[in-house]
Amino acid sequence: MTTSLAVIVPALVALAAAVAVAPQDPQPGYRDTPRLPDGWRVHDADRPRPPVVEPGPAGAPVPPPQDATVLFDGSNLDAWTGRGDKAQWLVADGAMQVNGTGDVQTRGEFGDCQLHVEWCAPTPAKGDSQGRGNSGVFLFGRYEVQVLDSWQNPTYADGQAASLYGQKPPLVNACRKPGEWQTYDIFFRAPRFAADGSVTAPARVTVVHNGIVVQLDEAMIGASTHRAVGTYAPHGDKGPIRLQDHGDPVRFRNLWIRPLDTTRPAPAAAGK
Ligand code: MG
Repeated sequence: MTTSLAVIVPALVALAAAVAVAPQDPQPGYRDTPRLPDGWRVHDADRPRPPVVEPGPAGAPVPPPQDATVLFDGSNLDAWTGRGDKAQWLVADGAMQVNGTGDVQTRGEFGDCQLHVEWCAPTPAKGDSQGRGNSGVFLFGRYEVQVLDSWQNPTYADGQAASLYGQKPPLVNACRKPGEWQTYDIFFRAPRFAADGSVTAPARVTVVHNGIVVQLDEAMIGASTHRAVGTYAPHGDKGPIRLQDHGDPVRFRNLWIRPLDTTRPAPAAAGK
């Protein structure tokens, strides 16, 4: 059997056209990582990215309530440690800035809490995906609410701003542009452990990003990790707040925290 050029040439032309328009993979991420309990892979390239919701305009710093512990008021890093005893991040213009000297964490330790954080991604934006404006807020030094410049910066869904990193994307993408101040209000209930170290209640997290609820009472599956399914290791009922140095000059300001008493006594125990 012979095949005429009249058949082969159009076929080759069609093939070349198909190759020419084949899009590059538009979804940064992984397809070889283990699966999370919800069925998606860790940092799944195919997990849908949350829809963008434009928040209102950036406002003035949110004043700490009367009963808050101020972690950073713009003047110094006395409440923080870094490599060695003293935090070395740059303090300027009322903000603290990542500068390559490593993570910083609070000297104080906290349990169940309401944590207010304001952060600002570097401008002009540099890099892409996880390489743009990456930092993070770690409760107990281990449970990360991701900080990332997710304004017009595609990355894997469980790694974008306000994700529970490696576990849960935010409900929507509420990011402001780099250079604009953004707020996180994080409501955190610490995990509970039995005497034998088993988990009796997972950590639960609610996150409000720029006034928009993006995580609603989500249960964490363990500590935050990269390319792996997080697991729990038992710890005490309080721990530090850690901020990540991921190499990008992200700034933070006006950090405060309110411990939450979620274990009020029942009426009988209170003598009623
Ligand atoms: Mg991070």
